[in-house]
Amino acid sequence: MKTYVYGFAAFDDPDRNLLGGKGADLAEMVRLGLPVPPGFTITTEACLYYLKNGSAPTELARQLDEHLAALEHQAGRRFGDAADPLLVSVRSGAAISMPGMMETVLNVGLNDITVHGLAERTGDARFALDSYRRLIQMFGETVFGVPVGVYGGALDAIKEQRGVADDLGLDAGALQDLIDQYHRLTKEHVGRTIPQDPREQLDLAVIAVFGSWNTERARAYRRHQGISDDLATAVNVQAMVFGNLGDHSGSGVCFTRDPATGAYGDYGEYLPTAQGEDVVSGVRTAVPLSELHTIDPAAYRRLRSLLGALERHYRDVCDVEFTIEDGMLWILQTRIGKRSAEAAFQLAHDFVEEGTITLDEALSRVTGDQLAHLMFPRLDTSGGELPLTTGLGASPGSAVGRVALDSTTAAEWAAHGDAVVLVRKETRPDDLPGMLAAAGVLTSRGGRTSHAAVVARGLGRPCVCGAGELEIDLDARSVVVPGGPTLAEGDVISIDGDTGDVYAGALPVADSPVVRWLEGDVVDTPLVTAVSTLMAHADAVRRLRVRANADTGADAERAVRFGAEGIGLTRTEHMFLGERRQLIERVIVAEDPAEQADALAALLPIQRSDFAAIFAAMDGLPVTIRLIDPPLHEFLPDLTEVSVRVALAEQEGGASERDTRLLAEVRRLHEENPMMGMRGVRLAIVVPGLIETQARAALEAAAAHRRAGGSVELEIMVPLLTTAGELAVVRDTVAKVAREVEEELGEPVEYRLGAMIETPRAALVADEIVGDASFLSFGTNDLTQMTWGLSRDDAESTFLPQYVAAGIVRTSPFETIDVPGVGHLVRTAADLARRADPSVTMGVCGEHGGDPASIGFFDEIGLDYVSCSPFRVPVARLEAGRAALQHKPVAPAADGEGDAP
Ligand code: ADP
Ligand code: MG
Ligand code: MG
Repeated sequence: MKTYVYGFAAFDDPDRNLLGGKGADLAEMVRLGLPVPPGFTITTEACLYYLKNGSAPTELARQLDEHLAALEHQAGRRFGDAADPLLVSVRSGAAISMPGMMETVLNVGLNDITVHGLAERTGDARFALDSYRRLIQMFGETVFGVPVGVYGGALDAIKEQRGVADDLGLDAGALQDLIDQYHRLTKEHVGRTIPQDPREQLDLAVIAVFGSWNTERARAYRRHQGISDDLATAVNVQAMVFGNLGDHSGSGVCFTRDPATGAYGDYGEYLPTAQGEDVVSGVRTAVPLSELHTIDPAAYRRLRSLLGALERHYRDVCDVEFTIEDGMLWILQTRIGKRSAEAAFQLAHDFVEEGTITLDEALSRVTGDQLAHLMFPRLDTSGGELPLTTGLGASPGSAVGRVALDSTTAAEWAAHGDAVVLVRKETRPDDLPGMLAAAGVLTSRGGRTSHAAVVARGLGRPCVCGAGELEIDLDARSVVVPGGPTLAEGDVISIDGDTGDVYAGALPVADSPVVRWLEGDVVDTPLVTAVSTLMAHADAVRRLRVRANADTGADAERAVRFGAEGIGLTRTEHMFLGERRQLIERVIVAEDPAEQADALAALLPIQRSDFAAIFAAMDGLPVTIRLIDPPLHEFLPDLTEVSVRVALAEQEGGASERDTRLLAEVRRLHEENPMMGMRGVRLAIVVPGLIETQARAALEAAAAHRRAGGSVELEIMVPLLTTAGELAVVRDTVAKVAREVEEELGEPVEYRLGAMIETPRAALVADEIVGDASFLSFGTNDLTQMTWGLSRDDAESTFLPQYVAAGIVRTSPFETIDVPGVGHLVRTAADLARRADPSVTMGVCGEHGGDPASIGFFDEIGLDYVSCSPFRVPVARLEAGRAALQHKPVAPAADGEGDAP
C-alpha cells in the first residue's frame, strides 16, 4: 500500500519532489523546533494520480482520516466541533516554487454552526465572521470556480454602503450580512452553497488544489520558466493560526536580508489584523517590517531570532511568511530567497566572511549570467516613462544616443564624440564599423541570434533586435512607430537590452562599477569587493584556460585587462573590409600574376601592422591567427550593383575595362549558397597568394616582436577543413613562406599550425587531421550550422523561434551547445585527436565559448581552453571555475526551491 500522506514531523531529510518545496520546508522547520502550526502533506504522487485518473487514489481517504485524527489530537480540538472547531488551511506547493500560480484555501472547517463556536471560544464574533466570509470566497472561487470579482464586488458594495474605508471597518453585523450575500451569490452561480460538512470541504479543497496545477496561468508560468508540466503539486493541510484575531495579531512576509542588494537589515512588510493573503493582495497598505518593532517588540525580537536561526540552518537568505496570533509568533513558510544578480554576489561573499560557507560553495551560488548582468549599464526608468515600442532584449545593458541610420553616419558622429544608437532593419558584416562606434544597436528584424544580436553581444554593446513596429525610412531619414512620433535621424533614443524597451529621448543611465574595476580603475564598493573575491577564487580553481576572440590591438588590450590568457581567434577578414576592400578586390580580379602580386604586396604591410598591435597587447601569450575565412562574395561588390553600373556606362558610350572585368569576375564567382561554397581553406587553395601573404605578415610581425624583446606563441589556424589533405597543402605553403622569411631575416621563425574543426567531417577524421595540426579549435558556430543543416541567419528569421516556442528545441543551438548532437561531434573529435596525439591542444572559439551553460560541457570533455569575445572573458573565467567545482564534491548546499535567481 502506497503512502500518500505524511505528517510534518515524519522526515529527517524531506524529499522536495515528493512533498513539494513548501511541504519539505515546513517539515524542515518542524524538525528545527520552530513554531510551525501542525499539519501534514499529501504527496505529489497523489496529485499525479489524480491528474492521470481524474480521481484521487482510493487509499487517500483513509490516510486522510488517520492524519486528521492525529492533527486533532495535536491541536487539541476537533474538526467540525460546534463549540471549538479545528480549522485548517489547504495549501498548494510544487517541488519548484511557482509563487502565486496555484491555489490555497484558508479557514476550512467553518460553517454556519462552527462559526458561532469560534466566536464563543475567542470572544470575538467579528473575527469569526471575518474568517468565514474569507472561507466562502476562497472556496467559491477555487473549488466552485465562481468568477473573481463576484465576492469582491459585494465586499466593495457593503463597504461603500456602510461608509467604511476597508474591511477592518466592517462590524459583526455587516459581516453577517456579507456572509448571507455570499451564500446567495454562490447559489446563484453554481446552484449550491459551500458544503456545511467540514470533511467534504476538505476533500473538495484538496481536489481543487490538485487541479490548480493545470490552470491556464500555472501552465503559462511553467512554459515561461521551463518547468515541466509532468510534475505536480503537493497539498499541505495545516492547522490555522489567526492574524485577523484582533489588534495583537497580524501577518507578514520578509527576507532575512535584502534580496535586491544583499544588505543585512529588516526587509519585509507587516499588516496588523490580517490573514496572510491580505499582505500580498494589497487590500490594505502594509507597514515596513521595522515598524513591528514598535507595534509588538517581543514578537519582533522573537522573529529576528528565528530569522537568524533559519539563515544559519539554510546557510542562505530565506524568504519567510509569518503570522502573529494574539502576540504569539508562527512561521508559515520559508524558502531560499530569490535574489538579484548584485545580491547574489554580495550574499555569497558575505556568507564566506561570516564563516557560514566556503569559497567553493560561494562560487557555486553565482552564475556567469549574473556577472554579465552586472557588467552592463542600466536605464533608470523610475520616472515612469513609457516605451515607444518593445523588441527583443538581445544584448543586455542600455544605451542612450542619437539615431544613426547607417554604419558610416554612426562612425562619423561617434568620431565627433556623439553617443549614437545604430538603427537598422538588420545588420550585415559591413555594418561592423558602425556597431563598434555605436553605444547600442537597434534593429527592426531578426531574433536573438541575428547578426546584430550576436555581434552586439560579442562586443558588449546593448542591443534590441526585431522591434517589428519600427518603420525605417532611409529616404526620409526617419524612424516611425505607427501611431507614435516620427523620429528624425539624429534624434535621441534610449534602448534597454534587457527588456527590449525602446524610449524616445534620453533616459538617465548608470555606469557599471564592475566594468570600471575590470578596466583597472580602483573601485572600492562592497559589490566590487565581492565580485573580485569570487573571480579570484574561480581563477584559482579552474582548469579551463580562457582566451579571447580579438581582431584589433585595442580589443586584445581590453581582453588582457579582463583576464584573457591569449587569443583563441583573430579573424583576419575584418582586416580586409572597409577601405581595404579594394585591395582584395584587386587580388581577385587581377589579370596576371604580376598584378596580383602587386595587390598582395600592398596588403602585406597593413596586415603586418594589424598583427604587430595584437602581439604587443598579448606579449608572452598564445595568439591564434585564422587564415582568411569568409566566402569570396563578401569582398566583391554586389552583382546587381556592378551590372547596373556597367549597363548604364554602356549606354553612355562604354564601361571601363576594369568594370567590365569586375562584372565578369563577380558573375563567375557568384555562388548560390556561399556558406557552403568557396570559403575558408577552399578559397586559400584556389587563391594561394592570399595565405602566403597572411602567413608572411604573421611570421614577420612575430619575428619583429621577438626582436624587440617580446615573446609570442604564434599559432596559424586553417578554417573550414574537411580533409587532412587540405591541411597538407596549407602546411606546405606556410612552411615554404616560413623558410623564405627565415632566409631573409637570417633567424629562425617559430609557429604552430592548427586546424579549425567546424565541419562534421573534420570532426570525424580529427585523428587524421591532427597529424599536421598541433592544435585543434572547435568552431562551434559553423559546426552547429553544418550539423543541423541550416543557415543561422535564415533559421533565426524564419522557423527557429517557432521551434523554440513550440518546445521542439529548448534553446537555440547557437546560444547553448547542443550536447547530444554537436556536442557529441566535439567529444568524438577530441577523443580521436587525443588518442592520435596526446600532446594536442584543444579549444573552442565559437560563440559557445562564452556561454555559461556550454562552458561546463567543454570542461567536462577535457578541452584545454575556451575563447570568447573580450567582454565575455570574465564570465567565462567565472563559469570555468564553477565547472571545475562540479567535478569535485561541494559542501552540501541549501538547494532551496528556485534558489538560482
Ligand atoms: P502561496 O504559495 O500563494 O503563498 P500559501 O499556501 O503560502 O500560498 O498561502 C497563502 C497565504 O495564507 C499565505 O500568506 C500564508 O501565510 C497563509 N496561510 C497559509 N496557511 C495558513 C495557516 N495555517 N494559518 C494562517 N495563515 C496561513
Ligand atoms: Mg506562500
Ligand atoms: Mg566558421
